[in-house]
Amino acid sequence: MRALVLSDIHANLEGFEAVLAAAAEQGYEEVWNLGDVVGYGASPNEVIDRLRPLGQTHVRGNHDRVCCGLSSVATFNPIASRAALWTQARLTEEHLAWLRALAQGPVMPDGPMVSCVHGSPLHEDEYVVGLREAREPLLQSPTCLTFFGHTHVQGCFAGDGKKWFEPKLKFRGKDKAEAAELKIEAGTRYLINPGSVGQPRDHDWRAAFAIYDDAARTVVFHRVPYDLRTCQQRILEAGLPERLASRLKEGR
Ligand code: ZN
Repeated sequence: MRALVLSDIHANLEGFEAVLAAAAEQGYEEVWNLGDVVGYGASPNEVIDRLRPLGQTHVRGNHDRVCCGLSSVATFNPIASRAALWTQARLTEEHLAWLRALAQGPVMPDGPMVSCVHGSPLHEDEYVVGLREAREPLLQSPTCLTFFGHTHVQGCFAGDGKKWFEPKLKFRGKDKAEAAELKIEAGTRYLINPGSVGQPRDHDWRAAFAIYDDAARTVVFHRVPYDLRTCQQRILEAGLPERLASRLKEGR
């Protein structure tokens, strides 16, 4: 079984379309969505329409909760809360209901093998930004393999109970599609972030995703260019904060 693992699409339709086109070339049977489908970008309804038929495995993100009214905007910075209120006003009733019904992680789409969470297996809103924060979630996750998002930084933390490490992904270019493979070793626990489809923050503007292959025991990380200019233009035309358009080019 091959699963396309997606996170933090953030209503970026152009990034999402580029990811789906690139993933189709690789081949996959399932789609696992780690949350934050909406918020920030200009295409919340379009992205949900495109995502819903692709699969059943969805985890809610903090922006999903705020945009559908389950959580308040109080914890958000001014730009994020403006975007969330804009999104809430535009989402259809059907999409609001779909967002409200999304599951809180961990969701286990492959029996006892894999967990999908938004922030961390310990708390859905926790940011796992480094090895120090990764240690407890790695030890306490119900599964050896955990996919997470929320930080918008593609990468991996791993450990076998004695040693903890951060396998480095080797990406060279900035404008072409690229991929990097991680081998899953028996006896090692992994926290894996496929990166953000719609708002990367790892200084690489390209849309990010990963493909997990349970038979080959691999996770392949991908970066793909997308139609950035159209995406930015639509954010500006929507009247969303200018910063939400400019940061996409910087990848941060
Ligand atoms: Zn996010």
